[in-house]
Amino acid sequence: MKRYDVIIIGAGPAGLTAAIYGARSKLSTLYIEKLSTGGQAATTDEIENYPGFPAGISGPELTANMEDQARRFGAARLAANVAKIEVAGEWKIVKTNKGDYEALAVIIASGAAPKLLGCPGELEFRSRGVSYCATCDAAFYEDTNVMVVGGGDSAVEEAMYLTRFAAKVTLIHRRDGLRATKIVQERALANPKLDILWNTVVEEIGGSDIVEKIVLKNTLTGETRELAVDGVFIYVGLEPNTSWLGGLVETDGAGYIKTDATMLTNVPGIYAAGDVRHTPLRQVVTAAADGAIAAFYAEKHVEEYLAGNKTKGVKQ
Ligand code: NAP
Repeated sequence: MKRYDVIIIGAGPAGLTAAIYGARSKLSTLYIEKLSTGGQAATTDEIENYPGFPAGISGPELTANMEDQARRFGAARLAANVAKIEVAGEWKIVKTNKGDYEALAVIIASGAAPKLLGCPGELEFRSRGVSYCATCDAAFYEDTNVMVVGGGDSAVEEAMYLTRFAAKVTLIHRRDGLRATKIVQERALANPKLDILWNTVVEEIGGSDIVEKIVLKNTLTGETRELAVDGVFIYVGLEPNTSWLGGLVETDGAGYIKTDATMLTNVPGIYAAGDVRHTPLRQVVTAAADGAIAAFYAEKHVEEYLAGNKTKGVKQ
């Protein structure tokens, strides 16, 4: 079984930053990602609040730069799906569909995924008019009539992105006030191509082969109505990618991993970083900071082991 000092699971901003810090500290570092690199940040058209880029930077470009930086310092990459982590004394065995890998420290940076809305038609029309990624799919909706569900940063930012393509964009929000950051709200309210339907929920998404209609309900009056629509983009929050851990580390009620200030979980040698962690703020900058802290303390963990086991370590 191939051994590393540290294995990082996930290659979004948290995982890639951990890989930069781990590899730069001369730890033998492997990062594993089952999808394409960059995580959710790579599906964001423009990131304008990551320090150092006053004109903003695209999510794909920022995360590709992070990966280049990690590779430059010698981090190894594995494209694989991690099924579970087993603890065997000081070593953690990371079991993947491409074999087993062993490390003294593991950093879980498996991120979070879009939550489902849960209405009839959502799954049936997924990828046939129902989307969770405007950055990926907006070009298919040129000159169409689309709706975006949600009132957080993701929904509002992606709705504005869609106005560059679609003829008409309507934001559907269940309350009468947006959750998104104030500056984002102001831009949305001033965008002439963006309409907002307040106090409205989606009852059903329908169509034949592709999405053609949506049934909406006004939460104040109870009135329902059916509208023609070409696409529905759903942004109703996130859920952590932690079910694969099978309860190995302690999580909060929503499934986010609990850590201390060093990013350590309740299992020695296993750290968590980024959106997968129980944290008050989920941004690229906080994910990157988590990754740096996790790698810093993973290095200390490895050094402590090596100090007591001079011949067994894999530190380069
Ligand atoms: P979020 O902040 O959790 O917002 C989810 C939105 O969906 C809320 O407006 C919520 O309504 C609504 N919602 C939830 N369940 C619903 C349901 N069943 N039916 C209808 N509406 C529902 O999620 P997010 O926008 O994906 O953002 C996740 C995190 O990433 C946040 O911390 C956000 O700040 C961050 N983020 C930051 C940026 C940025 O800084 N540029 C960009 C994107 C995301 P209520 O408001 O009524 O609860």
